[in-house]
Amino acid sequence: MKNQIIKKMMAATAADGVARMSAKAPRLCPSCGSFYTDPPAVSRKNKNIDICPECGMREALEEAGMEHLFGETLAAYRAARAAAGGKP
Ligand SMILES: [Zn+2]
Repeated sequence: MKNQIIKKMMAATAADGVARMSAKAPRLCPSCGSFYTDPPAVSRKNKNIDICPECGMREALEEAGMEHLFGETLAAYRAARAAAGGKP
C-alpha cells in the first residue's frame, strides 16, 4: 500500500518534470545574454552549459574554421524557423 503511494508520487513527479522540460519557458543564454525558447545546444567550450541554438551554430562553425559562414548560416536558420511557424 505504502509502496503504491510512493510509486504514484514518483510517477507524478516524473510526469511533472517532463511537462516542465517540454514547456517553452525562456532560457537565458550565458554566451550571448539573450533569451531563447528553442531546444538548447551544448557549448563546445564548456560541455556542462547549455547555450542558445544560434551560439551553438557559431561555436560549431568556429571549431570547423568556418566562422565566416556564420552570417549566412544564421540567416538560413532564421528563414527555416520562420517558415516552420517559429518552431525549431
Ligand atoms: Zn546565445
